[in-house]
Amino acid sequence: MPKIFAIANQKGGVGKTTTTVNLAAALADTGQRVLLIDLDPQGNATMGSGVDKRALKASVYQVLLGLAPLASALQRSSTGRYDVLPSNRELAGAEIELVELDARERRLKDALSSHHDDYDFILIDCPPALSLLTLNGLCAAHGVIIPMQCEYFALEGLSDLVNTIKQVHRNLNGDLEIIGLLRVMFDPRSTLANQVSAQLEEHFADKVFKTVVPRNVRLAEAPSYGMPGVVFDRSSKGAQAYLAFAVEMIGRFNQKEPQAAAIE
Ligand code: ATP
Ligand code: MG
Repeated sequence: MPKIFAIANQKGGVGKTTTTVNLAAALADTGQRVLLIDLDPQGNATMGSGVDKRALKASVYQVLLGLAPLASALQRSSTGRYDVLPSNRELAGAEIELVELDARERRLKDALSSHHDDYDFILIDCPPALSLLTLNGLCAAHGVIIPMQCEYFALEGLSDLVNTIKQVHRNLNGDLEIIGLLRVMFDPRSTLANQVSAQLEEHFADKVFKTVVPRNVRLAEAPSYGMPGVVFDRSSKGAQAYLAFAVEMIGRFNQKEPQAAAIE
């Protein structure tokens, strides 16, 4: 059974896609079999993985609507060692078209069920909204990774997201838990960033990942080359942080493995 994580935060531009792409590449780098699912009509994770969103025969859109099997839409990242279920603008229409369908929030979960043996990790890049697409991501996942910038308004939006996750846990997916908050685009010279970071540790304790991803221009440059930052410039501070994050994730889940097995 793969570990399935949704990378979610309804705020825009907080580093969801950068985290998904780089964690996928960093996990793949350690030999894990990884699938990245792009659930955002912007298709940034698709392009950032070196897959051309304008040249797709099938995408996550057809999979969600039941028009194509998941296998037929899969692509291999041309720059990272992982698979991609790609997306493009077509997906924007799914929001409305899904409303008519049965089990509309479980379409992704159902589509993944026949692929559990193919991967060790499945990472889902969610769009910046608490929408039906994000709901599909949360229903399919075991856990949520929340990237956030350490700024004042970051905390404000967090309670909406946490409440949504609690609701999904109660009503739709009892497996769902918050895996952790990942501090990204961190500037250690900023007093506010340090204050917010300390607040997060106080309130969320071990739900805050130890790894902190610094603001690093190499991570921002990499997508324009269709590359994960960890491939584009492995020695950069940003890439090193995501490589460390992958090790932290593997460590957490190896610890949890025996517990999960005991429950089953
Ligand atoms: P959206 O909500 O639009 O999907 P997002 O949450 O996926 O956005 P990203 O696209 O990952 O956010 O990041 C937003 C911008 O910040 C991008 O231009 C990205 O390259 C840049 N960025 C992300 N992380 C870092 C970082 N650690 N250092 C510098 N720039 C970063
Ligand atoms: Mg994004």
